[in-house]
Amino acid sequence: MEKVVSGIRPTGNLHLGNYFGAVKSFVAMQSQYQSMFFIADWHSLTTHPKPENIQNSARTILAEYLACGIDPQKAPIYVQSDVKETLELYLYLNMNTYLGELERVTTFKEKARKQPDNVNAGLLTYPTLMAADVLQHRAHKVPVGKDQEQNMEMMRKCARRFNNIYGIEFFPEPQNFYFNATALKVPGLDGSGKMGKSEGNCIYLRDDDKTIRKKVMKAVTDNGPQEPNSKRPEVIENLFTFLKIASTPDTYQYFDEKWNDCTLRYGDLKKQIAEDLVNIVAPIREKIEEYSANTALLDKVAKEGADYARQSASETLNEVRKIIGFRIY
Ligand code: AMP
Repeated sequence: MEKVVSGIRPTGNLHLGNYFGAVKSFVAMQSQYQSMFFIADWHSLTTHPKPENIQNSARTILAEYLACGIDPQKAPIYVQSDVKETLELYLYLNMNTYLGELERVTTFKEKARKQPDNVNAGLLTYPTLMAADVLQHRAHKVPVGKDQEQNMEMMRKCARRFNNIYGIEFFPEPQNFYFNATALKVPGLDGSGKMGKSEGNCIYLRDDDKTIRKKVMKAVTDNGPQEPNSKRPEVIENLFTFLKIASTPDTYQYFDEKWNDCTLRYGDLKKQIAEDLVNIVAPIREKIEEYSANTALLDKVAKEGADYARQSASETLNEVRKIIGFRIY
């Protein structure tokens, strides 16, 4: 059975970008594949979080995963730092990955621009840690958003290079998996490119109805359609992306026609999006509250997940050590 692995950094609460870009795909595929989900707490260290934030965030995200519908019986959930095998593979992969190619990764360049005083080695080797997360389970598919395409390419390069160096077809080349067959970028509603934690423009799964409505109603727009059937500017296309992911096809078509015959009122469009998002988020939020209160369950899920992931990773690492040429006692 094919294996699927995916993860999210616990540097804040889950937002709609995480939900529509990654978690929803994962929930959809958890029964069909041998799946695992992890909370990438090592990855979050690139921004130097405080110890108390790391622990609380891991529990928070765990509650959010469960509320989104990840079933740990089908898809174990683990905390990245509970599986030390990852670090060993990270080291091996780093030995075969070159400075030039890591420096060319767009997310690295962007982060280096945003935090020029903290361009640390962890930031540079972010893609090889991500590769280790997935390759340690010899996974075939990774549900990710469009923003991760280049990191996925690096991951495949790591797998291919290892296989070539040792002349063995050991690691599968993991493929991106998208819920609707195409990569999804959930936009920000502030006119910026994507919804993201560091962009500060997120609608969170914990947001109450009022907050969601307020955020949507504040979305950036323009003066409205000027000519029939014209191309939509980016800020308006962003709103239509939300319609596509949160509303029915009929609703999308209704507003698309209104745009095309220049009768669209942005207020109506925003109200529709806000209500559809509220309907999606409200039941998830209620479940988040229930799970967050049950810390014994959260800790049990994390422990069982860690045992499962450790077993899977140590099987791979035993093979990797033999392939590289280390002595096995
Ligand atoms: P991050 O929150 O950056 O740790 O990302 C965790 C997962 O959510 C990754 O699979 C990302 O591709 C996905 N993701 C985050 N933001 C977005 C977005 N705006 N659109 C689509 N996917 C996203």
